[in-house]
Amino acid sequence: MSSKTPTIPATSEAVARAADVLREGGLVALPTETVYGLAARADGAEAVAGIYRAKGRPDFNPLIVHVRDLDHARQYGLFPDAAANPALAIWPGPLTIVVPLREIAGLAPAVTAGLPTIALRAPAHPAIRELLQHVDFPLAAPSANRSGFISPTTAQHVLASLDGRIDLVLDSGATSGGIESTILAVRDDGRWEQLRPGPVDLDALHREFFGTAMPPSRGKGAVEAPGQLTSHYAPGKPVRLNMRQPEADEFVIGFGAVAGDCSLSASGDLLEAASKLYDCLHQAAASAKPRVAVAPVPVAGIGAAINDRLERAAAV
Ligand code: AMP
Ligand code: MG
Repeated sequence: MSSKTPTIPATSEAVARAADVLREGGLVALPTETVYGLAARADGAEAVAGIYRAKGRPDFNPLIVHVRDLDHARQYGLFPDAAANPALAIWPGPLTIVVPLREIAGLAPAVTAGLPTIALRAPAHPAIRELLQHVDFPLAAPSANRSGFISPTTAQHVLASLDGRIDLVLDSGATSGGIESTILAVRDDGRWEQLRPGPVDLDALHREFFGTAMPPSRGKGAVEAPGQLTSHYAPGKPVRLNMRQPEADEFVIGFGAVAGDCSLSASGDLLEAASKLYDCLHQAAASAKPRVAVAPVPVAGIGAAINDRLERAAAV
């Protein structure tokens, strides 16, 4: 399939070309260790507006800003120990930390959707790490898909919804993690709140730093006013969860002993299931079957994040 948007392997030359495109205010989709991101320079109002336009994203939904490391993050957000410690423990890695925005941050206001806080993360994937070394601005980068649709874990997924709408795609095959970062908000009093479950187990981290369990997160929809929309990751057809008995017109996403049309993990491995989740949802969306059914997935560990995404995919 030939694409309208140039799509090239994520070599060092390609990363240098991506840096040029971004400097000019363009949009580049590239792999992170979670899903493919759609990057723009976070200090450019026009560039950031381009992200919202390309994705069709509501402008009250703020973006995650990607930085090199904690020192870099401190240019944009305030990091008391309660926020610096988890950054030092996990970065580079799939943990996003929401902290108070610095007054002199110099970023496009649309990045934070006008909020007084900012979401920051230092990603681990070598392509985006190398890119961040080439540029003197941080990267605003939500998932590289049309708003509300399934997140991309391959360059083909990116093209399926954004071909012709963005300037460049760096391809480095399927991403390893497959599910978006855990989002931790650190409140003014140092209290932690989980805004989105993900690959990083905040409960374990909270026990390490505070000696107690993570406080329960507020109910669905009650997270920050912007973002975390109930319906998300939607394959565009009805999704039935915790399926025990499939119907003939259902595309079945299996797990463990339930094989299905696409299996999250035949061996019942939750990390494998996280990495396959969006690919199975993309296959379900493309299938001729009008409905989707998903086998039960345990909520232990990263299973909580998988079930969170599945519930949003099933919400209408
Ligand atoms: P994504 O679209 O996967 O990149 O997810 C970005 C999510 O990060 C948004 O939906 C918000 O829930 C969250 N987020 C970003 N910035 C903030 C912020 N300043 N405060 C709270 N949540 C934020
Ligand atoms: Mg997204």
